[in-house]
Amino acid sequence: MGNAVWVYMNDKLRADRNFDQFAAWAKRQNVSHVILYFPKAGLDEELPAVPEMAAFIDRCKQEAMEVHGMISAYMSPPRRFFEPGLESNFAVDWHGCSNRSHPAGGSRYFLDPNKPAVMEMLRRVVKNLLATYPELDGVQLDFIRYFHSSSSITIDTVEAGSDLRLLTQPKLRISGEMGEALYFLDRSQIQTYDPPVGGSQRYFHNYHYCFCDKCLVDFSTAYSIPLSLERPRVVVAQELTSKYAQQWYEFRANIISKAVRNVRDEINRMGTGKQLSATFWYNSPYGNRLTNQPFRTGSEYTDFGQRWDEWAFQGLVDFFCPMNYWLEPLEYGEITKAQVEKIHGRLPIYSGVLTSRDYPSPMDTLDQYTAQAEKAGAAGICFFAYHTWAQ
Ligand SMILES: [Zn+2]
Repeated sequence: MGNAVWVYMNDKLRADRNFDQFAAWAKRQNVSHVILYFPKAGLDEELPAVPEMAAFIDRCKQEAMEVHGMISAYMSPPRRFFEPGLESNFAVDWHGCSNRSHPAGGSRYFLDPNKPAVMEMLRRVVKNLLATYPELDGVQLDFIRYFHSSSSITIDTVEAGSDLRLLTQPKLRISGEMGEALYFLDRSQIQTYDPPVGGSQRYFHNYHYCFCDKCLVDFSTAYSIPLSLERPRVVVAQELTSKYAQQWYEFRANIISKAVRNVRDEINRMGTGKQLSATFWYNSPYGNRLTNQPFRTGSEYTDFGQRWDEWAFQGLVDFFCPMNYWLEPLEYGEITKAQVEKIHGRLPIYSGVLTSRDYPSPMDTLDQYTAQAEKAGAAGICFFAYHTWAQ
């Protein structure tokens, strides 16, 4: 097996002297594929190559490793998207809030994959990446999916006193130095209004996308389903994700698959024989184990719009790096095996393994992960990420 590694050009690597350290680590870990992250900011326009990135690619090539440039397709928009008049390129969530003014967590900006300007940007970034760094063996699309998360907070209001009236409003704005977030009242429990004695208030914000006018009109046209846009967006969102869930998930997945196809076309048009690979993501494990939720098979499709098996069967991509994080070795092996089988072993899968301060155990049990990946039929493991694994 040859392994892969995600690399971010941070302080651990930035000085040339650390390339030796990386090369030695990569050799020890049997790394054959280096996936190097590039911010879109430098690629949205034709800027010269960043010397340290070019030098790092050269060094990896000297060490006989493949190097693939990774970009985040829809997160971290290039700066120009924040200029006036371009707000419609940001996705709109379940409540009808534009992600431009209501980003999750105060800063998770997410572009609408269904907007022509966003598709053009993606093609341009991929084209510029390969033109600026011709030594690259290919491009990896990260975040080629919808953003999806749901936040809820429950406030104990028994002793809220006079402030109870502020905590029973239909909307609650939380702001601080990191930014602000808007929440919507879900459940309200009040004992008495006078005197003010509460119980608990549950607020939520569902960051499920995209419910902009264009997406809703396109959906309505594609499936001949009449939708009244006069109603509150949350009502439309509830209807779409219950009554028409099957069509809604398919609609979103078609948009993402079309983007993958367009990027593949762009790479083919350059005629350079470069490869295309992709990450994919699902509700597990951040979305389940840590919050006592069940693992939902297929959530990469329903929540994130990724029909990645279709990308494989249509020959759009060359390999995958699923993010199989926060899993014990046995479960990691089972999930990796299911992924290999889902595409009938057609393409190499480098099964992502994370180690972090919060989840350090893989560092000591790496052999078990490697053995499980091999048993599952994966091409190798994919380390997330060099700077944490090399500590
Ligand atoms: Zn939209």
